[in-house]
Amino acid sequence: MRTTKLPAGVEVPVLGIGTWRMGEQPERRRHELEALVCALDNGMSLIDTAEMYGDGAAEELVGEALAGRRRQAFIVSKVLPHHASAKGTIAACEASLKRMATDYIDLYLLHWRGGVPLAETVDALERLASDGKIRYWGVSNFDTGDMEELLALPGGRKVQTNQVLYNLMRRGIEFDLLPWSRQHAMPVMAYSPLEQGVLLGQAEVLRLADEYSTTPAQIALAWVLRDEQVIAIPKAGTPRHVRQARAALDLRLSPIDLQALDRAFPPPRRKVPLEMI
Ligand code: NDP
Repeated sequence: MRTTKLPAGVEVPVLGIGTWRMGEQPERRRHELEALVCALDNGMSLIDTAEMYGDGAAEELVGEALAGRRRQAFIVSKVLPHHASAKGTIAACEASLKRMATDYIDLYLLHWRGGVPLAETVDALERLASDGKIRYWGVSNFDTGDMEELLALPGGRKVQTNQVLYNLMRRGIEFDLLPWSRQHAMPVMAYSPLEQGVLLGQAEVLRLADEYSTTPAQIALAWVLRDEQVIAIPKAGTPRHVRQARAALDLRLSPIDLQALDRAFPPPRRKVPLEMI
């Protein structure tokens, strides 16, 4: 598995698995559990979850998948902005730990910016880190200005990643946030790399899937993974989808095909405010 380094020096896989909407439908649960186990078996050991997903149901599913193999995984979870106060952050983290039946989260993110002053959240995250409840912390849905503000705060430079929307149809971050992250040697974590499935029906993606004798999902993921600074966390609800994601890592799109994708999904020419799903 290809890895990238977080600013703290820890190596993480560039391909993980997302869990939004997992654990919510009883008839899908078994496949989702198998998908998470399959991801761990195939080196996609970065599992992205959040207290928000299914009101804790996704974290409970993650906990089940981790049984007996916690140390093989790199768990990313997130605190909701309205919980991200001095006390609330600690309580939210402890609840997540309980649901996942673990005593630490590898990387704990502020899900998006809310009303709590950022400095208060950073203090709480630092406290969680010094208590050993989380190893590292980061943020999500932060635009370049938010990142600058964060770095100016005491402790702000401990941030390890920014998880943002990035895929062929959402390229805004290429204008400034991605270059900014590169300058700071901080990987970006790309969420919704398949645009929640919408990309899989796009003509140019379908054409390339045919040309490479692969699936549209693999074309969309290979495109995100072409950038060594980007970690992709597709949600795959079955082992078949997990194996397809894994195979996308070995798929190299040619310069000509990358140009064709640029024509179909043009890169930004000016600043685009960060989009969110
Ligand atoms: P994705 O772009 O990852 O798309 C997921 C959809 O694609 C699902 O419907 C899935 O179906 C389908 N899919 C996956 N693999 C294949 C395949 N090989 N062939 C066909 N269909 C496929 O969407 P998400 O929004 O879920 O993003 C991924 C993760 O990012 C989330 O699960 C979450 O962990 C994180 N996220 C974070 C956000 C944030 O604010 N920080 C916001 C949004 C997402 P199936 O389930 O059947 O496999």
